[in-house]
Amino acid sequence: MDIIDPWGSNIIDYNKLTEQFGIKPFSEVLNDVPDPDLLMKRGIIFGQRDYKNIIHCLKNNKEYAVVTGMMPSGRMHIGHKMVVDQLKWYQKKGAQIYLSIADMESYGARGISSNKSRKLAIEEYIINYIALGIDVTDPNFHIYLQSENDSVKDLAYKIGNKITFNQMKAIYGFNNSTNISHIYTPLIQVADILHPQLEEHGGPKNIVVPVGPDQDPHIRLTRDIANKFNEEYGFIAPSSTYHRFMTGLTGEKMSSSKPKSAIYLTDTPKEASKKVKSAKTGGRESLKEQKEIGGKPDECSIYELLVYHLIKDDNKLKEIRENCLSGIIVCGDCKNCASKLIKELYENISNKREEAKDIALNVL
Ligand code: SF4
Repeated sequence: MDIIDPWGSNIIDYNKLTEQFGIKPFSEVLNDVPDPDLLMKRGIIFGQRDYKNIIHCLKNNKEYAVVTGMMPSGRMHIGHKMVVDQLKWYQKKGAQIYLSIADMESYGARGISSNKSRKLAIEEYIINYIALGIDVTDPNFHIYLQSENDSVKDLAYKIGNKITFNQMKAIYGFNNSTNISHIYTPLIQVADILHPQLEEHGGPKNIVVPVGPDQDPHIRLTRDIANKFNEEYGFIAPSSTYHRFMTGLTGEKMSSSKPKSAIYLTDTPKEASKKVKSAKTGGRESLKEQKEIGGKPDECSIYELLVYHLIKDDNKLKEIRENCLSGIIVCGDCKNCASKLIKELYENISNKREEAKDIALNVL
């Protein structure tokens, strides 16, 4: 298989992460994945637990489910597109997809009412999911508000019987002043992940949860609880994949709460393109130095945008990387190219968002 490694030395940090937490490298299973997604081939999805189970389902046409969630609390940015792209890939492969709108978590952790969560979920998240290519009318696509899903709520209550407050404190950092609703929300999330295996959803099946590495303690807890309920429900411990974080325009992790770091999905094409032009690059102090010793693509948020979202052609990407390293291209040219590409992408998303509005209103 033609695999490119667009990351160079930067991947070492993620390797350390996998060693530290026992997450297996995704590269170990990549060659077995039928028609892998670009995010897999480019090492953006870098880790996995038990993904062999999902490969088995993919190869043998066996039913499996993908579970993910969204906490409606802020604006979606281009880093969030990564999860949507993964869902799109699974949807094409015929997976059952469960998308939880974490309104109970939003209430417990941030005091946001259920009505506000529903409105935010529709106007900010679901519209963007549809605009980015998710078919919400697919019968295998299941979306729900936690507060309206009795299976999830009942299961969460039962799960609470298998975990102590001390464990919750150790995993989530809760303390004596954390409100009880907040303490309860991780149990709802565990139930979100496991409930597609209940009889009313077709019974035990393999599940995969695509997450960032910071979510791994939660995955470990869910796997542990699945094993504890194996006898009663036949639950199979869920598989997981781990993707890299998106670097923000300022060089730190992209975050909805840091406007200077993020390109929001609802930015206009012009705004997005302007933001790209102001992003931190891996360029050298001077043009002369850059031409002599080349740039640092592994420390460049522009290059990351090209790898994650803007360039599908591996050869084109390889050429940019080599030209950067050898000083043939300079950051101004690269920024112009990225800003043109992001403008086109955002024009497309913005048009599709208009079409998505009516559909989104009827999803929940
Ligand atoms: Fe980044 Fe391009 Fe500059 Fe290289 S030339 S550091 S890839 S912006």
